Amino acid sequence: MSETTTCGLATRAIHGTTQTDAHGSPHTPIYNTTTFAFPSTAELLDVIDGKKPGALYTRYGLNPSIFALEETLAGLEGAELAWAFCSGMAAETALFLTHGRDGIVCVGDAYGGTLELLAAQLPLLGIQTHLILGSEQERLDDLLAGGAKLIFFETPTNPTLELFDIRTMAAKAHAHGARVAVDNTFASPVNQHPLELGADFVVHSATKYLGGHSDLTAGALMGSKELLLPVWNWRKNLGSMIAPETASLLSRSLRTLVVRVQQQNASAQAVAEAMARHPKVSRVFYPGLPDFPGHGLAKEQMHGFGGMLTIEVKDDGAAATRVADRLRLFALAPSLGGAESLVTQPCTTTHHGLTPEERARRGISDAMLRLSIGLEDSADLIADLEQALQS
Ligand code: PLP
Repeated sequence: MSETTTCGLATRAIHGTTQTDAHGSPHTPIYNTTTFAFPSTAELLDVIDGKKPGALYTRYGLNPSIFALEETLAGLEGAELAWAFCSGMAAETALFLTHGRDGIVCVGDAYGGTLELLAAQLPLLGIQTHLILGSEQERLDDLLAGGAKLIFFETPTNPTLELFDIRTMAAKAHAHGARVAVDNTFASPVNQHPLELGADFVVHSATKYLGGHSDLTAGALMGSKELLLPVWNWRKNLGSMIAPETASLLSRSLRTLVVRVQQQNASAQAVAEAMARHPKVSRVFYPGLPDFPGHGLAKEQMHGFGGMLTIEVKDDGAAATRVADRLRLFALAPSLGGAESLVTQPCTTTHHGLTPEERARRGISDAMLRLSIGLEDSADLIADLEQALQS
């Protein structure tokens, strides 16, 4: 374990691994290899049998580039262990198959792919899944009493930025012998530490803030040794391992995570405040706005309000589409967390797969535009939004 576990987050992001380089490089090199040779069968068996740590085979995750990444990822979330994956969906799948077989309750909104996995694929394997709204706490109590063993949620959620009280959810789950998994993608470890608040697992689409440059696809799962060790074989045999090149690129990105996200927090606040004053915007969903329903909870359980916000354009969905199409700096693209600002209209992208009725039930209107605030000057982003709303 790295000696930096008691240091601040920015230090851990840079010095979070004990993997060293024989030539003195400050960064773990890319071990661009599928396998590792041993001087003797006895030494090979020591690693295979887990008696000694060591590199062995890349798909198993036994590769120093992956070790270095995982050590840093664990440090960032204050976890005993982190497993890296080839995508956020791969991390979720391994989590659900390992710890969700007795029933999964997804509370509130989630990424469309997660909802589809839970609603359409996992039930084919006989896994009972329940998608409930954040307001349906009584149903959650009933499902826990009925034996569901894994609660999964995002906080803040996508795209309405709804917040859930992680401490309360964890207490509720633990009282029934269930576990809590939080998708911390939107907040990032800079703004929220779910494990400190009682969650058992943190899952990330590292494709987003952790990667931070829209140039890699990866995922991560963090938690205790006891809960993560059983996931290892699922990841190994599902073949959902991150590539060493991607692991190294992600380690590179983590070194700047703190400054990037802090800048995105500040810019998102400025954009949210400007949009809240704009006559052509009917609503702004951002935890940093004092009149936002989740503001009080955000102040309690988050360290920053994040770089994601959603605006609702006055009139209708067609007006929102026109605004999205007129933006120049914001790219019309369905992702988030990168250096460049992005805009999506949830009804045409992330939540396109839901019926209009289901979107309405979830409070997702066609007039919503979700903004991922990048690292551009906030004044330029505001000017871009103003010209698009104006024309
Ligand atoms: N979780 C959230 C909140 C996401 O936004 C996404 C993707 O957009 C995922 C999980 C899935 O991640 P990936 O695309 O890396 O598989």
